[in-house]
Amino acid sequence: YLNMRKKNNEIKLDVLIVGAGFGGMYMLHKLRELGLEALIVEAGDGVGGTWYWNRYPGARCDVESIEYSYSFSEELQQEWSWSSRYSTQSEILKYANHVADRFDLRKDIKFNQRVRSSVFKEDLNKWYISTSSGDNYLAQYCIMATGTLSSVKEISFNGLDSYKGDWYVTGNWPHQKIDFAGKKVGIIGTGSSAVQAIPVIAKDAKHLTVFQRTANYSIPAKNRKLTVQEVKKVKSNYSSIRDEAKNARAGIASTVYGTKNVFDVSDEERNREFQKKWDYGGTDFNSAFMDIGFDERANDEAANFVRSKIKEIVKDGETAELLSPKTTIACKRLCADTDYFETYNKSNVDLIDINKTPIESLTANGLITSKDQFSFDIIIFATGFDAMTGALTSIDIIGKNGVNLADKWKEGPKSYLGLCIEGFPNMFTITGPGSPSVLGNMMVAIEQHVEWIIDCIKHMNANDKKEIEAELTAENEWMDLVEIIASSTLRDTCNSWYVGANVPGKKRVFMPYAGGYQTYREKCDEIAKTNYEGFKIS
Ligand code: NAP
Repeated sequence: YLNMRKKNNEIKLDVLIVGAGFGGMYMLHKLRELGLEALIVEAGDGVGGTWYWNRYPGARCDVESIEYSYSFSEELQQEWSWSSRYSTQSEILKYANHVADRFDLRKDIKFNQRVRSSVFKEDLNKWYISTSSGDNYLAQYCIMATGTLSSVKEISFNGLDSYKGDWYVTGNWPHQKIDFAGKKVGIIGTGSSAVQAIPVIAKDAKHLTVFQRTANYSIPAKNRKLTVQEVKKVKSNYSSIRDEAKNARAGIASTVYGTKNVFDVSDEERNREFQKKWDYGGTDFNSAFMDIGFDERANDEAANFVRSKIKEIVKDGETAELLSPKTTIACKRLCADTDYFETYNKSNVDLIDINKTPIESLTANGLITSKDQFSFDIIIFATGFDAMTGALTSIDIIGKNGVNLADKWKEGPKSYLGLCIEGFPNMFTITGPGSPSVLGNMMVAIEQHVEWIIDCIKHMNANDKKEIEAELTAENEWMDLVEIIASSTLRDTCNSWYVGANVPGKKRVFMPYAGGYQTYREKCDEIAKTNYEGFKIS
């Protein structure tokens, strides 16, 4: 079918979607419903995005599976049963594959092709998209479903070429099982990925050395199997769960937000609340009180509670101190773990502070720090992502007047609503910078963006319009708002990937919209209702 449409090595489409993760798959499904010709180009050989690439041991979701799932199809949510509170990567990938099969998506997905460039043809109002396999597409709309944590940070340690052992990156993990038994393993990084991987690897490895730059807050996930009765109850109650999620600050129905400030209550009551959240498990610990994310003194109370827990769990005092984070607790994304701190009580696990003794270089059989030499069979880089912008700026995206998106974003990303970019007409970004995306439930954020884009394209077609572009003033005002909101919180008080501080040379800008998912959705709806205020439509 595609070959029939191919003329001058160029395939004409209504919409080209980049990426077959949860965003791209739903986008394709909805565009088909509109009767449009749409196609996904995907770099991997399967669907699932994040869950396709991040196959490291222990990888699981940190939003409860019941909520981290599509809501758009009643049949889908009735036929699929989640096994655990937080599902494993393999179960989520199985779900992604089930969705692809159930909605017959694969026939419109080109796998094993990476989009290299996307150029806006001003004379045609269309995007000309070229891929690594030499295919070219001409599409009215280009939709970037490229993910927010999908561009792995460059591994730039000295001496990497000289290292003779095996090495792996958590965000691009091999498909075959890695056997750690009897192996000496080193892992660099202590973010969410490492926090999940470390306890699992420590079970098998002969020895595991963890190289830590910044200690992270982690709350026990309290993961468990879901009972048949629980699943049944959820299935009969899905519509109200989804409604609540849509109207919740982080797009998660189960989060219970405290209605008091930290110092409104007695020491005993405060401790009781923190303990309740700790026992419940998972990443909504900070919602125990209203001001944890805003007031440093309040924040310190929450942080002290977690630090005291770390000191209770970790037997060696020096290790416990090293594992105790010094940053505010509302700055980086909280980790959810299973036996993370407990793992440091094992005799085969060591923790190295690379602030004190930095890694100087990898060597033929391991690495050297300023103090010691280490030999490893396997080194794991759990060093994170060029978040929110990396997947987009790594493609040559050329808009009007030959402007490259990477150049436009040199001083930080600019986008209207995180959906559209001035100078780049007819291009949409699903969960782009400037939208809440990573600050909540990605599935809810994805569905909202896809549905907004669909309504927008419907509006364009109904009015026989060919081009939509964000206005510069609207974009600037929106990004100013994103910054004002972030600066009223404690989110910008440490070197997180939210501000791009983890990538050398990246401009420090708080990228997601922190005003709450529900407020954001209302704003998007209002803009659509007022004839797409802030957009030029022609
Ligand atoms: P990350 O949070 O950015 O953590 C990277 C770790 O590597 C940090 O400890 C960082 O230290 C360290 N690091 C980076 N570059 C380094 C260098 N050159 N030398 C030494 N250490 C270095 O990345 P991540 O753990 O992959 O997680 C990213 C995000 O993905 C999470 O915040 C979360 O949103 C998502 N995620 C979610 C789940 C889940 O659903 N459960 C699981 C994994 C990831 P610094 O902190 O000092 O920079």
